[in-house]
Amino acid sequence: VHLSRGTLRVYPGPLDATATAPGSTLQRLVLAWYRERACQVFAHRLAVLRRDPRIAALGRPGTLGVRRMRRRWGSCFRDGRITLNIELLAEPLPLVDYVIVHELCHLREHNHSPRFYRLMDEVMPDWRTRREALRRSTTAGFLAGP
Ligand SMILES: [Zn+2]
Repeated sequence: VHLSRGTLRVYPGPLDATATAPGSTLQRLVLAWYRERACQVFAHRLAVLRRDPRIAALGRPGTLGVRRMRRRWGSCFRDGRITLNIELLAEPLPLVDYVIVHELCHLREHNHSPRFYRLMDEVMPDWRTRREALRRSTTAGFLAGP
């Protein structure tokens, strides 16, 4: 297994027993690669989304972090940090965009008030369709294993 420049190469060959054990080198490498890839993709989508002046006007997140989350796709802290669930990487980009825009709206409205949803309607009129698709997703939790 070789990790460089965002590419993970897994060479065919006999796996030793530790390779399938939890916390194994292989598992950590795959996760590290996945995290790096997620950071790149999410940061790129954020940049693309912010080309829309209405979205740019929501504000710029302090940092855009990535981590594994069990029950949510993203979160926005009051200090402006946004964290996205690493597992979003497996979702289609329109759904990734939906979560990013949802969290960006929290920069302005730190709640799910009617004002928050009005903001969502303004910047992403079809957000409900995307939310539905995300709710039907079977991807959540796949990195956590059985
Ligand atoms: Zn929210």
